Amino acid sequence: MLTWPAPQIPALPGHGGPVQVRDSSTGELVVAAPGSRASLYVCGITPYDATHLGHAATYIGFDLLVRAWLDAGQTVVYASNVTDVDDPLLERADATGMDWRDLAADQTALFAADMTALGVIPPDVYTGAVEAIPAVVGAVESLVADGAAYRVGTPDASGAGTDDVYADLAADPGFGLVARLGRDEMLALSAERGGDPDRPGKRDPLDPLLWRAARDGEPAWDGGTLGAGRPGWHIECAVIARDGLGLPFDVQGGGSDLRFPHHEMSTSHARLLDDGAGAATHVHTGMVALHGEKMSKSLGNLVLVSRLLDAGEDPMAVRLAVLAHHYAADWEWTDAGLAQARERLELWRAAVSGNGAPDTAAMLAGARAALAADLDAPAALRVVDDWARASVAAGGRDDLVEGAPGVAARAVNALLGVRL
Ligand code: ZN
Repeated sequence: MLTWPAPQIPALPGHGGPVQVRDSSTGELVVAAPGSRASLYVCGITPYDATHLGHAATYIGFDLLVRAWLDAGQTVVYASNVTDVDDPLLERADATGMDWRDLAADQTALFAADMTALGVIPPDVYTGAVEAIPAVVGAVESLVADGAAYRVGTPDASGAGTDDVYADLAADPGFGLVARLGRDEMLALSAERGGDPDRPGKRDPLDPLLWRAARDGEPAWDGGTLGAGRPGWHIECAVIARDGLGLPFDVQGGGSDLRFPHHEMSTSHARLLDDGAGAATHVHTGMVALHGEKMSKSLGNLVLVSRLLDAGEDPMAVRLAVLAHHYAADWEWTDAGLAQARERLELWRAAVSGNGAPDTAAMLAGARAALAADLDAPAALRVVDDWARASVAAGGRDDLVEGAPGVAARAVNALLGVRL
């Protein structure tokens, strides 16, 4: 699948230090990618509705991680997916009378346009669920052969090849280590977030779907020995991460609502596919609310990036409004927050508009230190604010450093993805 165009990342003097993030499984701060190569998988969208601020906050959050790794001199390999066939997409296509392929293509293109406008670095490996089907079939066949997956007859089973295939979680002694939840909580979240704990015939109510046998009116693909059907969601990400990054990889990321079951299950699948290795560290972004409730498609309380941009909003103000909150925090989108971001953007642009400005060394070091400490964007913004206020206040003085505005603009662009 084609990605969107990569933003230019200006070179800066020196390098940032090792980047710490909070492992959401243990709560500990860790240097998640200690080597020269840093690998990241961030779960992509299911393209049935436009990008809202919750998505934007997730991808901007992990974009900061990519930028911090690059600034630390590391090579970054970033993989992501597009779940371009799944129940919610098919349901939306049915409800709107659109062909599901057209809906997926339209929404994937809109997402790419939003990411481009927001200055998000595209993944190096970008794979659609449909593209990954042959690899998923091979993976599920190998799990069946290893006894880590089993067949469950479909409700209208008429013979061989009409079985759904489920993972047998009992085969994975590491299951549960990602989200570390009690069984009741896991059962409740499974029912709420796309699982089917009540499906008869499963060995454990939590066992997740790997392969859904073909049903009338649903798209289906050749599944080899599995029979015709389509992939489950968790195995899709496990296989795309394995093939895009290799196992194990450094960080698996996504919104905190993906912690369970999605990341728990995809990590379990990866572990069984590779004898014990999935993502080393899990990192999760907070949820964005509007009018006191989490932004969600089902509630309909969405602020769409494309709608803000169509109304003439500067995408860099939208980005700054997101960066004013720590990635892991839950926060609320407000008009006041957007207005503050506009003011900040104006201040920063004024601060880099002259030929000279105060020295940038402390600002650059401060922003780098903030980002290396669990991607503390709000602290980095305050460091830039201090410099920018000093620059504006000092305008016209002749003891300013020539070229400093350019260094500041490049620093803000490279580290925070904000184009001034
Ligand atoms: Zn995923």
